[in-house]
Amino acid sequence: MSYKQSEIRNLLSEAGLKVTPQRVEILNAIYTLKNHPTAEKIIEHIRKSNPNIATGTVYKVLDTLVQKNLVKRVKTDRDIMRYDGITENHHHLYCSKCDTIEDYNDPELDQLLSEYFNKKNLKHFAIEDVVLQIRGTFHKC
Ligand SMILES: [Zn+2]
Repeated sequence: MSYKQSEIRNLLSEAGLKVTPQRVEILNAIYTLKNHPTAEKIIEHIRKSNPNIATGTVYKVLDTLVQKNLVKRVKTDRDIMRYDGITENHHHLYCSKCDTIEDYNDPELDQLLSEYFNKKNLKHFAIEDVVLQIRGTFHKC
């Protein structure tokens, strides 16, 4: 997925955020890196072109992007926070050998889950989103 700077600017202002070079850079890094990068990977990527960016700034911007729903947090068994630039509902295939998180879209599964929980009728809980992390290993690993 390759985003143009102008698209990223639009996303930021549509979310009601001021367009700052750091926010553009960080969002761009998340889209460019794919594989749901960690903050560390994002910092490493940005420092290639902007060696002076402060770690604290990156974490602060990431929090803002999550709050504004431009980015989602993802966690794996390794318990390290990673960031997902795709905010539409989707699931994840997580390879415990190579630590890759692959997006998994399955409308049939979504349908099934939604029908299932409708039938269950949980009285004390309002479901917003069901996200599955399916753990396993890729055959190539
Ligand atoms: Zn994802």
